Amino acid sequence: MTQIKYPTIAFADDGSSAVADAVTPQAGHGNGAAPADGSQPHQLVIVGSGPAGLTAAIYAARANLKPIVIAGYAPGGQLMLTSDVENYPGFPDGIQGPELMDLFRRQAERFGATFMDVDLDRVDFGKKPFSLWAGDQEVTSHSVIVATGASALWLGLDNETRLRGRGVSACATCDGFFFRGKKVAVVGGGDTALEEATFLTRFATDVVIVHRRDAFRGSKIMQTRAMDNPKITFALNKEVADVLGEDVVNGIRLRDTVTGEESNLETDGVFLAIGYRPNTEAFKEWLTVDEKGYLVVRDETRSDVDGVFIAGDVHDHRYRQAVTAAADGCKAAIDAERWLESQGITQGATAAAW
Ligand code: NDP
Repeated sequence: MTQIKYPTIAFADDGSSAVADAVTPQAGHGNGAAPADGSQPHQLVIVGSGPAGLTAAIYAARANLKPIVIAGYAPGGQLMLTSDVENYPGFPDGIQGPELMDLFRRQAERFGATFMDVDLDRVDFGKKPFSLWAGDQEVTSHSVIVATGASALWLGLDNETRLRGRGVSACATCDGFFFRGKKVAVVGGGDTALEEATFLTRFATDVVIVHRRDAFRGSKIMQTRAMDNPKITFALNKEVADVLGEDVVNGIRLRDTVTGEESNLETDGVFLAIGYRPNTEAFKEWLTVDEKGYLVVRDETRSDVDGVFIAGDVHDHRYRQAVTAAADGCKAAIDAERWLESQGITQGATAAAW
Protein backbone atom coordinates (compact mmCIF):
# COMPACT_ATOMS: atom_id res chain seq x y z
CA MET A 1 0.00 0.00 0.00
CA THR A 2 1.31 3.47 -0.81
CA GLN A 3 1.96 5.41 2.32
CA ILE A 4 1.85 9.17 2.46
CA LYS A 5 4.42 10.49 4.91
CA TYR A 6 3.41 13.24 7.26
CA PRO A 7 5.63 14.44 10.05
CA THR A 8 4.96 12.86 13.45
CA ILE A 9 2.34 10.44 12.11
CA ALA A 10 3.28 6.79 12.09
CA PHE A 11 1.31 4.55 9.75
CA ALA A 12 0.51 0.98 10.57
CA ASP A 13 0.57 -1.65 7.82
CA ASP A 14 -3.18 -1.49 7.37
CA GLY A 15 -3.04 2.26 6.86
CA SER A 16 -4.37 3.29 10.25
CA SER A 17 -2.31 5.92 12.00
CA ALA A 18 -1.16 7.17 15.33
CA VAL A 19 0.84 10.18 16.37
CA ALA A 20 4.17 8.62 17.25
CA ASP A 21 5.27 10.97 19.94
CA ALA A 22 2.11 12.58 21.07
CA VAL A 23 -0.67 10.41 22.38
CA THR A 24 -0.25 8.68 25.69
CA PRO A 25 -1.84 5.22 25.66
CA GLN A 26 -5.19 5.49 27.40
CA ALA A 27 -6.49 1.99 27.91
CA GLY A 28 -9.99 1.67 29.21
CA HIS A 29 -10.85 5.33 29.43
CA GLY A 30 -14.28 6.76 28.93
CA ASN A 31 -16.16 5.16 26.09
CA GLY A 32 -13.21 5.10 23.67
CA ALA A 33 -11.87 1.63 23.10
CA ALA A 34 -8.54 1.36 21.27
CA PRO A 35 -8.68 0.19 17.66
CA ALA A 36 -8.28 -3.53 16.99
CA ASP A 37 -4.84 -3.08 15.40
CA GLY A 38 -3.37 -1.75 18.64
CA SER A 39 -2.63 1.78 17.35
CA GLN A 40 -3.87 4.55 19.60
CA PRO A 41 -6.61 6.91 18.47
CA HIS A 42 -5.84 10.58 18.26
CA GLN A 43 -7.48 12.90 20.72
CA LEU A 44 -8.82 15.28 18.09
CA VAL A 45 -9.03 15.30 14.31
CA ILE A 46 -10.06 18.53 12.63
CA VAL A 47 -11.47 18.27 9.12
CA GLY A 48 -11.00 21.45 7.10
CA SER A 49 -8.33 24.12 6.90
CA GLY A 50 -10.12 27.43 6.44
CA PRO A 51 -10.35 30.00 9.25
CA ALA A 52 -12.55 27.70 11.37
CA GLY A 53 -10.38 24.59 11.08
CA LEU A 54 -7.10 26.44 11.52
CA THR A 55 -8.30 28.41 14.52
CA ALA A 56 -9.55 25.18 16.08
CA ALA A 57 -6.10 23.73 15.38
CA ILE A 58 -4.33 26.65 17.09
CA TYR A 59 -6.49 26.37 20.21
CA ALA A 60 -6.38 22.57 20.34
CA ALA A 61 -2.63 22.49 19.80
CA ARG A 62 -2.12 25.00 22.60
CA ALA A 63 -4.22 22.73 24.83
CA ASN A 64 -1.81 19.85 24.08
CA LEU A 65 -4.39 17.86 22.15
CA LYS A 66 -1.87 17.30 19.29
CA PRO A 67 -4.63 17.76 16.70
CA ILE A 68 -4.45 16.18 13.28
CA VAL A 69 -5.82 18.46 10.57
CA ILE A 70 -7.20 16.76 7.47
CA ALA A 71 -6.68 19.88 5.42
CA GLY A 72 -7.86 18.79 1.99
CA TYR A 73 -6.03 18.46 -1.31
CA ALA A 74 -6.43 22.23 -1.84
CA PRO A 75 -6.00 23.52 1.72
CA GLY A 76 -6.98 26.91 3.06
CA GLY A 77 -10.66 27.16 2.23
CA GLN A 78 -12.48 29.98 0.48
CA LEU A 79 -9.97 32.64 1.49
CA MET A 80 -7.51 31.00 -0.91
CA LEU A 81 -9.82 32.29 -3.65
CA THR A 82 -10.06 35.79 -2.23
CA SER A 83 -7.82 38.74 -2.97
CA ASP A 84 -7.84 41.64 -0.52
CA VAL A 85 -9.31 40.90 2.88
CA GLU A 86 -10.04 44.27 4.39
CA ASN A 87 -12.33 43.31 7.24
CA TYR A 88 -10.24 40.84 9.20
CA PRO A 89 -9.28 42.65 12.41
CA GLY A 90 -5.62 43.37 12.94
CA PHE A 91 -4.71 44.18 9.36
CA PRO A 92 -5.36 47.91 8.90
CA ASP A 93 -3.95 47.84 5.37
CA GLY A 94 -5.74 44.60 4.45
CA ILE A 95 -4.12 41.27 3.67
CA GLN A 96 -4.32 38.77 0.81
CA GLY A 97 -6.54 35.76 1.63
CA PRO A 98 -3.87 33.11 0.91
CA GLU A 99 -1.33 34.99 3.01
CA LEU A 100 -3.77 35.16 5.92
CA MET A 101 -4.38 31.41 5.71
CA ASP A 102 -0.65 30.76 5.58
CA LEU A 103 -0.22 32.75 8.79
CA PHE A 104 -3.03 30.80 10.50
CA ARG A 105 -1.47 27.50 9.45
CA ARG A 106 2.04 28.42 10.59
CA GLN A 107 0.62 29.46 13.95
CA ALA A 108 -1.13 26.08 14.32
CA GLU A 109 2.02 24.19 13.28
CA ARG A 110 4.11 26.13 15.75
CA PHE A 111 2.06 24.66 18.61
CA GLY A 112 2.10 21.09 17.31
CA ALA A 113 -0.81 20.64 14.90
CA THR A 114 -0.06 18.09 12.18
CA PHE A 115 -1.44 18.47 8.67
CA MET A 116 -2.57 15.92 6.12
CA ASP A 117 -3.07 17.70 2.78
CA VAL A 118 -5.51 15.14 1.41
CA ASP A 119 -9.28 15.10 0.99
CA LEU A 120 -11.50 13.31 3.45
CA ASP A 121 -13.37 10.48 1.73
CA ARG A 122 -15.68 9.11 4.40
CA VAL A 123 -16.18 8.74 8.12
CA ASP A 124 -17.69 6.28 10.53
CA PHE A 125 -19.26 8.15 13.43
CA GLY A 126 -21.29 5.10 14.42
CA LYS A 127 -18.66 3.71 16.79
CA LYS A 128 -16.05 5.09 19.16
CA PRO A 129 -13.31 5.94 18.58
CA PHE A 130 -14.43 7.51 15.30
CA SER A 131 -12.82 6.51 12.01
CA LEU A 132 -11.99 8.86 9.16
CA TRP A 133 -10.60 7.82 5.78
CA ALA A 134 -8.49 10.27 3.79
CA GLY A 135 -6.52 9.23 0.72
CA ASP A 136 -5.66 5.63 1.48
CA GLN A 137 -5.29 6.21 5.21
CA GLU A 138 -7.65 5.48 8.08
CA VAL A 139 -7.32 7.81 11.04
CA THR A 140 -9.04 7.11 14.34
CA SER A 141 -9.90 9.74 16.91
CA HIS A 142 -11.83 10.24 20.13
CA SER A 143 -13.22 13.57 18.94
CA VAL A 144 -13.69 15.36 15.63
CA ILE A 145 -14.29 18.96 14.60
CA VAL A 146 -16.01 19.30 11.23
CA ALA A 147 -14.94 22.58 9.62
CA THR A 148 -15.21 21.76 5.94
CA GLY A 149 -16.71 25.08 4.84
CA ALA A 150 -18.64 25.62 1.65
CA SER A 151 -17.66 25.53 -2.05
CA ALA A 152 -18.51 27.81 -4.96
CA LEU A 153 -21.70 27.07 -6.92
CA TRP A 154 -21.95 26.78 -10.70
CA LEU A 155 -24.91 27.48 -12.96
CA GLY A 156 -24.97 23.91 -14.28
CA LEU A 157 -24.92 24.74 -18.01
CA ASP A 158 -23.19 22.22 -20.30
CA ASN A 159 -21.07 24.87 -22.00
CA GLU A 160 -20.13 26.39 -18.66
CA THR A 161 -18.63 23.03 -17.67
CA ARG A 162 -17.03 22.48 -21.10
CA LEU A 163 -15.35 25.89 -21.09
CA ARG A 164 -14.24 25.84 -17.45
CA GLY A 165 -10.63 26.97 -17.40
CA ARG A 166 -11.01 28.33 -20.93
CA GLY A 167 -12.79 31.52 -20.00
CA VAL A 168 -15.17 30.22 -17.32
CA SER A 169 -13.97 30.59 -13.75
CA ALA A 170 -15.25 30.88 -10.18
CA CYS A 171 -12.10 32.53 -8.92
CA ALA A 172 -11.18 36.05 -9.96
CA THR A 173 -8.08 36.02 -7.80
CA CYS A 174 -6.78 32.88 -9.49
CA ASP A 175 -7.69 33.72 -13.07
CA GLY A 176 -8.09 37.51 -13.30
CA PHE A 177 -4.54 37.92 -14.52
CA PHE A 178 -5.37 36.06 -17.76
CA PHE A 179 -7.91 38.72 -18.72
CA ARG A 180 -5.57 41.66 -19.00
CA GLY A 181 -6.95 44.02 -21.64
CA LYS A 182 -10.06 41.84 -22.15
CA LYS A 183 -13.80 41.99 -21.39
CA VAL A 184 -15.31 39.90 -18.64
CA ALA A 185 -18.73 39.26 -17.10
CA VAL A 186 -19.35 38.49 -13.45
CA VAL A 187 -22.55 36.62 -12.55
CA GLY A 188 -24.24 37.28 -9.20
CA GLY A 189 -25.53 40.08 -7.00
CA GLY A 190 -23.88 39.38 -3.65
CA ASP A 191 -20.69 40.64 -2.07
CA THR A 192 -18.61 38.09 -3.93
CA ALA A 193 -19.81 39.32 -7.32
CA LEU A 194 -19.32 42.96 -6.37
CA GLU A 195 -15.88 42.31 -4.93
CA GLU A 196 -14.71 40.15 -7.82
CA ALA A 197 -15.97 42.66 -10.38
CA THR A 198 -14.02 45.42 -8.65
CA PHE A 199 -10.93 43.21 -8.45
CA LEU A 200 -11.18 42.29 -12.14
CA THR A 201 -11.02 45.95 -13.19
CA ARG A 202 -7.31 45.72 -12.33
CA PHE A 203 -6.93 43.61 -15.46
CA ALA A 204 -9.97 43.83 -17.72
CA THR A 205 -11.02 46.83 -19.81
CA ASP A 206 -14.75 46.22 -19.21
CA VAL A 207 -16.52 44.30 -16.48
CA VAL A 208 -20.26 43.61 -16.71
CA ILE A 209 -22.09 42.43 -13.61
CA VAL A 210 -24.94 40.14 -14.68
CA HIS A 211 -27.60 39.83 -12.01
CA ARG A 212 -30.99 38.15 -12.17
CA ARG A 213 -32.74 40.91 -10.19
CA ASP A 214 -32.48 44.71 -10.06
CA ALA A 215 -31.56 44.85 -6.36
CA PHE A 216 -28.30 43.61 -4.92
CA ARG A 217 -27.84 41.26 -2.01
CA GLY A 218 -24.33 42.60 -1.40
CA SER A 219 -23.45 45.27 1.15
CA LYS A 220 -23.96 48.97 0.45
CA ILE A 221 -20.25 49.78 0.56
CA MET A 222 -19.43 47.13 -2.06
CA GLN A 223 -22.32 48.28 -4.25
CA THR A 224 -21.11 51.87 -4.12
CA ARG A 225 -17.57 50.82 -4.89
CA ALA A 226 -18.71 48.87 -7.95
CA MET A 227 -21.09 51.58 -9.13
CA ASP A 228 -18.41 54.25 -8.83
CA ASN A 229 -15.96 52.22 -10.88
CA PRO A 230 -15.99 53.51 -14.48
CA LYS A 231 -14.98 50.11 -15.87
CA ILE A 232 -18.04 48.36 -14.38
CA THR A 233 -21.46 48.26 -16.04
CA PHE A 234 -24.57 46.28 -15.08
CA ALA A 235 -26.87 43.87 -16.88
CA LEU A 236 -29.77 43.68 -14.41
CA ASN A 237 -32.77 41.37 -14.54
CA LYS A 238 -30.65 39.09 -16.69
CA GLU A 239 -29.68 35.44 -16.30
CA VAL A 240 -27.12 33.47 -18.26
CA ALA A 241 -28.92 31.14 -20.68
CA ASP A 242 -25.72 29.80 -22.28
CA VAL A 243 -22.00 30.28 -22.51
CA LEU A 244 -20.78 30.80 -26.08
CA GLY A 245 -17.53 29.84 -27.79
CA GLU A 246 -15.85 26.80 -29.36
CA ASP A 247 -12.41 26.52 -27.75
CA VAL A 248 -12.59 29.58 -25.54
CA VAL A 249 -15.39 31.80 -24.32
CA ASN A 250 -16.38 34.58 -26.71
CA GLY A 251 -19.75 35.54 -25.25
CA ILE A 252 -22.75 34.68 -23.14
CA ARG A 253 -26.41 34.40 -24.04
CA LEU A 254 -28.54 36.44 -21.66
CA ARG A 255 -32.21 35.98 -20.90
CA ASP A 256 -34.22 38.86 -19.45
CA THR A 257 -35.87 37.58 -16.28
CA VAL A 258 -38.83 39.97 -16.73
CA THR A 259 -39.57 39.81 -20.47
CA GLY A 260 -37.89 36.52 -21.39
CA GLU A 261 -36.11 38.28 -24.25
CA GLU A 262 -32.71 36.87 -25.20
CA SER A 263 -29.58 38.71 -26.31
CA ASN A 264 -25.87 38.02 -26.73
CA LEU A 265 -23.14 39.76 -24.75
CA GLU A 266 -19.61 39.65 -26.11
CA THR A 267 -17.13 38.70 -23.44
CA ASP A 268 -13.82 36.88 -23.09
CA GLY A 269 -14.49 35.55 -19.63
CA VAL A 270 -17.34 34.60 -17.27
CA PHE A 271 -16.78 34.61 -13.53
CA LEU A 272 -19.42 32.82 -11.46
CA ALA A 273 -20.11 34.37 -8.08
CA ILE A 274 -23.49 32.89 -7.19
CA GLY A 275 -22.87 31.52 -3.74
CA TYR A 276 -21.71 28.35 -2.08
CA ARG A 277 -22.65 24.79 -1.21
CA PRO A 278 -21.69 23.48 2.22
CA ASN A 279 -19.22 20.58 2.07
CA THR A 280 -21.16 17.94 3.95
CA GLU A 281 -20.96 14.92 1.64
CA ALA A 282 -18.79 12.77 3.91
CA PHE A 283 -20.97 13.48 6.96
CA LYS A 284 -24.54 13.30 5.66
CA GLU A 285 -25.02 9.73 6.81
CA TRP A 286 -24.19 10.69 10.40
CA LEU A 287 -25.00 14.37 10.98
CA THR A 288 -28.24 16.31 10.54
CA VAL A 289 -28.46 18.88 7.73
CA ASP A 290 -30.98 21.72 7.45
CA GLU A 291 -33.21 22.55 4.48
CA LYS A 292 -30.34 24.39 2.76
CA GLY A 293 -27.98 21.47 3.25
CA TYR A 294 -25.95 23.05 6.07
CA LEU A 295 -25.02 21.03 9.17
CA VAL A 296 -27.22 21.63 12.19
CA VAL A 297 -25.50 22.66 15.42
CA ARG A 298 -26.85 22.47 18.95
CA ASP A 299 -25.54 24.36 21.94
CA GLU A 300 -23.10 26.43 19.83
CA THR A 301 -20.81 23.75 18.34
CA ARG A 302 -22.27 20.34 19.12
CA SER A 303 -23.57 17.91 16.52
CA ASP A 304 -26.03 15.09 17.11
CA VAL A 305 -23.09 12.74 17.64
CA ASP A 306 -21.46 13.05 21.04
CA GLY A 307 -17.80 13.95 20.50
CA VAL A 308 -18.29 15.46 17.04
CA PHE A 309 -18.25 19.25 16.88
CA ILE A 310 -19.02 21.65 14.04
CA ALA A 311 -17.46 25.00 13.16
CA GLY A 312 -17.60 27.62 10.42
CA ASP A 313 -19.37 27.97 7.08
CA VAL A 314 -20.38 24.31 6.92
CA HIS A 315 -23.17 25.25 9.32
CA ASP A 316 -23.29 29.05 9.03
CA HIS A 317 -25.21 30.51 6.12
CA ARG A 318 -25.95 33.67 8.01
CA TYR A 319 -22.61 35.36 8.66
CA ARG A 320 -20.09 33.41 6.53
CA GLN A 321 -17.19 35.65 7.46
CA ALA A 322 -13.60 34.66 8.11
CA VAL A 323 -13.76 36.23 11.54
CA THR A 324 -16.98 34.45 12.53
CA ALA A 325 -15.63 31.15 11.21
CA ALA A 326 -12.44 31.68 13.22
CA ALA A 327 -14.47 32.40 16.35
CA ASP A 328 -16.45 29.24 15.74
CA GLY A 329 -13.25 27.22 15.44
CA CYS A 330 -12.12 28.58 18.79
CA LYS A 331 -15.43 27.61 20.41
CA ALA A 332 -15.36 24.11 18.90
CA ALA A 333 -11.81 23.48 20.15
CA ILE A 334 -12.72 24.59 23.66
CA ASP A 335 -15.86 22.45 23.62
CA ALA A 336 -13.96 19.44 22.26
CA GLU A 337 -11.27 19.81 24.91
CA ARG A 338 -13.85 20.02 27.70
CA TRP A 339 -15.69 17.03 26.27
CA LEU A 340 -12.49 14.97 26.11
CA GLU A 341 -11.80 15.86 29.71
CA SER A 342 -15.35 14.97 30.75
CA GLN A 343 -14.85 11.54 29.16
CA GLY A 344 -11.60 10.99 31.04
CA ILE A 345 -9.65 10.99 27.78
CA THR A 346 -7.57 14.04 28.68
CA GLN A 347 -7.02 15.39 32.10
CA GLY A 348 -7.39 19.04 32.70
CA ALA A 349 -5.53 20.02 29.58
CA THR A 350 -5.37 23.44 30.26
CA ALA A 351 -7.82 26.02 30.85
CA ALA A 352 -4.74 28.16 31.33
CA ALA A 353 -3.40 27.37 27.89
CA TRP A 354 -6.26 28.89 25.94
P1 NDP B 1 -24.74 35.31 -1.80
O1 NDP B 1 -25.53 34.11 -1.52
O2 NDP B 1 -24.78 36.45 -0.87
O3 NDP B 1 -25.14 35.88 -3.23
C1 NDP B 1 -25.26 35.02 -4.33
C2 NDP B 1 -25.78 35.84 -5.48
O4 NDP B 1 -25.85 35.01 -6.63
C3 NDP B 1 -27.16 36.41 -5.23
O5 NDP B 1 -27.24 37.72 -5.70
C4 NDP B 1 -28.07 35.47 -6.03
O6 NDP B 1 -29.17 36.12 -6.58
C5 NDP B 1 -27.17 35.03 -7.15
N1 NDP B 1 -27.49 33.68 -7.62
C6 NDP B 1 -27.61 32.56 -6.90
N2 NDP B 1 -27.90 31.51 -7.69
C7 NDP B 1 -27.99 32.00 -8.93
C8 NDP B 1 -28.25 31.42 -10.18
N3 NDP B 1 -28.48 30.10 -10.32
N4 NDP B 1 -28.25 32.21 -11.26
C9 NDP B 1 -28.00 33.53 -11.15
N5 NDP B 1 -27.73 34.15 -10.00
C10 NDP B 1 -27.72 33.38 -8.90
O7 NDP B 1 -23.24 34.76 -2.02
P2 NDP B 1 -21.87 35.57 -1.98
O8 NDP B 1 -20.89 34.57 -2.42
O9 NDP B 1 -21.92 36.80 -2.74
O10 NDP B 1 -21.65 35.92 -0.46
C11 NDP B 1 -21.66 34.89 0.53
C12 NDP B 1 -21.41 35.51 1.91
O11 NDP B 1 -20.04 35.94 1.99
C13 NDP B 1 -22.26 36.74 2.18
O12 NDP B 1 -22.61 36.75 3.52
C14 NDP B 1 -21.32 37.89 1.88
O13 NDP B 1 -21.64 39.05 2.59
C15 NDP B 1 -19.98 37.33 2.31
N6 NDP B 1 -18.86 37.95 1.59
C16 NDP B 1 -18.20 38.98 2.18
C17 NDP B 1 -17.15 39.59 1.54
C18 NDP B 1 -16.45 40.70 2.23
O14 NDP B 1 -16.96 41.18 3.24
N7 NDP B 1 -15.29 41.13 1.78
C19 NDP B 1 -16.69 39.18 0.21
C20 NDP B 1 -17.49 38.10 -0.34
C21 NDP B 1 -18.52 37.53 0.33
P3 NDP B 1 -30.37 36.66 -5.65
O15 NDP B 1 -29.84 37.88 -4.97
O16 NDP B 1 -31.44 36.94 -6.62
O17 NDP B 1 -30.67 35.55 -4.70
